[in-house]
Amino acid sequence: MKLEGIHHISCITGDAPANVEFYAGTLGMRLVKKTVNQDDPSVYHLFYGDEKGSPGFDLTFFEYPGAAPGVPGPGMVHRIVWRLPGAESLAWWKERLESAGRETELTDGSLLFSDPEGLQHEFIVYAGSEEALVPLHTEVPPEHAIRGFHAVRAWSVNPPATGEVLHKVLGFEDLGDGDWIVTGDERSGRYLIDPSPGHHGRPGAGTVHHVAWATRTEDQDAWRDRVASSGLFATPVVDRFYFKAVYFREPGGVLFELATMGPGFATDEDPETLGERLALPPDFEPLRDRVEPALRQLPDIRQWRPAGV
Ligand code: ZN
Repeated sequence: MKLEGIHHISCITGDAPANVEFYAGTLGMRLVKKTVNQDDPSVYHLFYGDEKGSPGFDLTFFEYPGAAPGVPGPGMVHRIVWRLPGAESLAWWKERLESAGRETELTDGSLLFSDPEGLQHEFIVYAGSEEALVPLHTEVPPEHAIRGFHAVRAWSVNPPATGEVLHKVLGFEDLGDGDWIVTGDERSGRYLIDPSPGHHGRPGAGTVHHVAWATRTEDQDAWRDRVASSGLFATPVVDRFYFKAVYFREPGGVLFELATMGPGFATDEDPETLGERLALPPDFEPLRDRVEPALRQLPDIRQWRPAGV
């Protein structure tokens, strides 16, 4: 039983329209699902991914309209690391981001920037053999497109205890210096524990809410049992309709989720028009007449979709 790297990363935004403009516009990700927060259907839950909405490239945002900006601190993920195909792509993105008004920092093999709410991202060059998960976009040539998650960088309030859970419960391997890797049959993912800063964090817009690791659907109950029997508090298996989820907080303070690789986002929409209309899981469909008019208008994502895909 192995984890297949990062399934998705969920974050908070205070401004869904600007969020769509940045992630689906500037960064060229495909908005693969526009739905509501299943714990609060008055606000959006947006999912960005590659063409298919694959686990391994699924960045999600809960919208809390007008939420104050947060600050990452100990016990939080502070940066998301993405794969690019080569060094030329780092330079290409530096120019694109700067022309969109974002500051960037290009170092040897990495490009740092943040989204308009302060969420930090890092592009790195990935030379490994895992499948590239690529979104198509009118302004981003496929040879420069983002290819999926590589890692998250986190600050743990207790790095040894975090390491013990990563290794003994979740099957990560210790590469030293806080660099942990989990390798599945298809995909790997890394958890990088950086030395914690001196300040306290505060959740809010532009911060990461949780990171989800990918499980095989048939293993989900066994994973839940494994986490619970390690002494951590694990939720029951929750059916999120697009996948099944178990949540627990690792001892370093970060909320983890284990999420199944199926059934996926095409389960209630045509793969060609994913994300274009508000998708509501069956339990929420009777609320559509109340929910939909209360949500804010978002940019039309069809403007960024290449013709004929
Ligand atoms: Zn999640």
